[in-house]
Amino acid sequence: MAPPMLRLSYNDIHNAIARTAPRIMSEFSPDLFIAIGGGGFIPARILRTFCKVTTDGKKRNIPIQAVGLTLYESLGGIEEVVGQEVVRVQWIDFSTLGSKLKHGGLLGRHILIVDEVDDTRTTLVYTIKEMQKDINKQLEAIEDVDERERLRATTKLGIFVVHNKLKPKAGEIPADVAYFSAVDTPDVWLAYPWECETDIEEHDMLRKDNPTL
Ligand code: 5GP
Repeated sequence: MAPPMLRLSYNDIHNAIARTAPRIMSEFSPDLFIAIGGGGFIPARILRTFCKVTTDGKKRNIPIQAVGLTLYESLGGIEEVVGQEVVRVQWIDFSTLGSKLKHGGLLGRHILIVDEVDDTRTTLVYTIKEMQKDINKQLEAIEDVDERERLRATTKLGIFVVHNKLKPKAGEIPADVAYFSAVDTPDVWLAYPWECETDIEEHDMLRKDNPTL
């Protein structure tokens, strides 16, 4: 039997993110968003609205970088691959990140990875591992040991998802990675408004039939 479906409107997502942003700001203070495409793009853009930082008396937006990841399975299933493997189709553009910043762009920053849903956690665990590799590479390039250790200690990784499905996960988030979810849900299918291929008004209206969670 297909899992129950929960239809979500744009406002549902916007409000959930607005409610969570103050906690993200006070507990993590991000200064770089990494949006996992395509589902993390719209949530990252909404979150940015609520996470402006004031520098030199001016309100500034936090930059968003995009990465594109796809599960092999969703590419139609590649038989030789056992289970779900992640394919990296797009990665961070370090040339723009590093222009005004020393150390390749990641070091010393509070980097928040944004996705729409934490389902099996495969994508998030993969992204953290890849980010950590990039951070380590940038750390290796720092010759001064004290400076390298200072930067290691001040570089922080965090995760924000709009929905976290409460279910067994395929991997674990490392203890030093901050984790924020706007809404925890049972194992239902989440129908996001940006995926609606038919009538969006009808999609919104049918939310009245959503199961009570
Ligand atoms: P993971 O299993 O790696 O945590 O999630 C992989 C991807 O599967 C998510 O980024 C998302 O694109 C998709 N996905 C998983 N569960 C749902 C869901 O309930 N609704 C939608 N629309 N996509 C989902």
